[in-house]
Amino acid sequence: MNFEAVMGLEVHVQLKTKSKIFCRCSTHFDARENENICPVCTGMPGSLPVLNEEAVHMACKMALATNCKVQSVSVFARKNYFYPDLPKGYQISQYDQPLAIDGWVEIPLSNKEIKKIRLERIHMEEDAGKNVHGSHFSYVNFNRAGIPLIEVVSKPDLRSSEEAGNYLRSIQRMVRYLEIGDGNMEEGSLRCDVNISLRPTGAEKLGTKVEIKNMNSFRFVENAIEYEIERQKEALQNGQKIIQETRLWDSNQNKTFSMRSKEEAHDYRYFPEPDLMPLEVAPKALEIIKTQLPELALEKQKRFMRDYQLSQADSGTLVQEKSLADYFEAVVKECQAPRLASNWILSELLREVEASSVSKSKITPKHLGQLILLIQKGTISGKIAKTVFEKMLQSGDLPQKIVETEGWVQISDDAELEPIIEAVVKENPNLVKAYQAGDAKKFGFFVGQVMKKTQGQANPQKVNELLKKKLGDV
Ligand SMILES: [Zn+2]
Repeated sequence: MNFEAVMGLEVHVQLKTKSKIFCRCSTHFDARENENICPVCTGMPGSLPVLNEEAVHMACKMALATNCKVQSVSVFARKNYFYPDLPKGYQISQYDQPLAIDGWVEIPLSNKEIKKIRLERIHMEEDAGKNVHGSHFSYVNFNRAGIPLIEVVSKPDLRSSEEAGNYLRSIQRMVRYLEIGDGNMEEGSLRCDVNISLRPTGAEKLGTKVEIKNMNSFRFVENAIEYEIERQKEALQNGQKIIQETRLWDSNQNKTFSMRSKEEAHDYRYFPEPDLMPLEVAPKALEIIKTQLPELALEKQKRFMRDYQLSQADSGTLVQEKSLADYFEAVVKECQAPRLASNWILSELLREVEASSVSKSKITPKHLGQLILLIQKGTISGKIAKTVFEKMLQSGDLPQKIVETEGWVQISDDAELEPIIEAVVKENPNLVKAYQAGDAKKFGFFVGQVMKKTQGQANPQKVNELLKKKLGDV
């Protein structure tokens, strides 16, 4: 029997506000243990939460960017459970009236198609603290307690590990483009749980789903899904039932293992948070946020393909990071040569500099743009340009200056090249005879000699032209 995997993702995004969601504590990442805490985020009796407006603003940005409907009224709820990192004994989240519902995200697939993944909801909540286990004692660090999160819940529209990975990357890119979070999986500012079930191919009814947690990289998410699909397939083929449970990914053993049977929503005894008013988002506020949305990666990619005639693959790489896309457009502005700019960035610059830190490189868009102009004007050859590029990377000098200091200007002047060609021809009378008798391959030898005598600085096109004239071809 053939099976089809059905997946939905719950993605937690840490919002980059300056202060926590319900108190004034800093959200700074590098603080000492329990430096960023107060009575509110440590759940002291009598303390009251106050909602951070900036967090709502950021959550709305994500909702609008993912085509969700922001509800005019949403309600915070208490999600009750007991765990040492949760000082109040409940997490303030949203339950039956989330901030936003019914959106979609478009993801690129490797077959160049675009797939629409529908979103169920986006809701706001607070993060919990962090348990730290020593050899004799365990500790709790509450710095993270009360950091604002949004949870983006997809519908079960994903069918493979590749789709899940691309979806997650799209969410990450969106968070970064919107500048509402770092989207860093390794640091936990982007976290993802996968709900996965199998069903016989062609069946409508969903199978029993398993939730996988604890994957802190894209590769782990993809590996965990691959593993889980195989595990469930084998169980179903052997006539076993899938148990609804939560499983953890173990990246050392490359497998998932059972953590606990899956809790149902009623286990959390959700009820409306009595200390917070229902959240009302004014339509006018949404209109303003809409006008502030930046051009997102996929739109940008489409525009690069259309306006600059770049390939899907090249433009896809350029829009990976907003700073890289901005860098590319700044180079184009400088040299007006999008294809060359794209080639230089993708083949030379990204070999030396990480895509996320091009804006910090010694080679600024001005450097690269001017280098491309020097090639286009014929001042330097493409080969010399690569050496200039290396020098720029080290010194940060502008290309014009390097070319002048090093004396690398390409020789295109007839008067300068003619005596050299004359000499080469004179030195090789036999080869000249052979060439003139029809051995066309000898031509390359003459070109090579001229380049050698000029240390590679002769303009190859000019050399070709003058040599042909000299050898009686024209
Ligand atoms: Zn606090």
